[in-house]
Amino acid sequence: MTEKLIDKVAAVTGAASGIGLECARMMLSEGARVVLVDRDEQALHAVCEELGPAAIPLRVDLTDTADAGRMMPEILDRAGQLDIFHANAGAYIGGEVASGDPDAWDRMLNLNINAAFRSIRAVLPHMVERKTGDIVMTSSIAGLVPVVWEPIYTASKHAVQAFVHTARRQVAKYGLRVGAVAPGPVVTALIKDWPKDKLEQELAAGGLMQPVEVAEAVMFMLTRPRNITIRDLVILPQSNDL
Ligand code: NAD
Repeated sequence: MTEKLIDKVAAVTGAASGIGLECARMMLSEGARVVLVDRDEQALHAVCEELGPAAIPLRVDLTDTADAGRMMPEILDRAGQLDIFHANAGAYIGGEVASGDPDAWDRMLNLNINAAFRSIRAVLPHMVERKTGDIVMTSSIAGLVPVVWEPIYTASKHAVQAFVHTARRQVAKYGLRVGAVAPGPVVTALIKDWPKDKLEQELAAGGLMQPVEVAEAVMFMLTRPRNITIRDLVILPQSNDL
């Protein structure tokens, strides 16, 4: 442990699995106390038991506005402060625009952008009052280039990128930093519906990353000196067709 985040409190949403879990694990290994926010209570308790006493589980469904409203008061109640907020929870909904699920758009934007915005809005007053804080959003390469076979997901992640670019400027005057990490395909539950042969093919071709690689990028951003804006980091696998 190098303890780069000693005395810091972080909260990571979507932390019971995949990228969020690895980010939480790395923040803990650097000395932070970490509130792991997720709607999956069972997974949350299992991972926090493994991660130890500095890992604080908080079950919240971020798409339920009343439930999400508990998030910040509970973080302050359990951890006393918040220095780092990682808005990471998200999902992938695919499908055809013409023939797919007509509710897909609402469900996708409700989680990937609306819930992310509301959770960031909820942590801002505390960070503004303390005149310090770092906010990271998990975007996607689909937030920067249109991934043509993923129109709904691409739209949701372009909204995330647009928000990061604009919100960063507004909150800089309070001493806050806002950045995004934009990964290519990562081996997590999010790509569980990929056909087995495509998965194996991509793995063999070096076209997929592990969650820990994204966590390393987030840690790089968070440990930049405070006078350096954290901006955005694109992180792609060795071989990437996008
Ligand atoms: P994952 O499915 O492994 O983890 C997502 C977590 O979010 C789960 O633990 C889930 O329970 C939680 N979650 C979902 N809805 C929630 C809600 N309403 N309230 C609270 N928690 C909720 O997926 P992942 O790949 O780790 O995805 C994390 C983020 O990374 C997402 O924003 C995703 O869009 C982004 N991303 C993933 C990839 C990839 O290829 N896996 C690539 C680029 C970006």
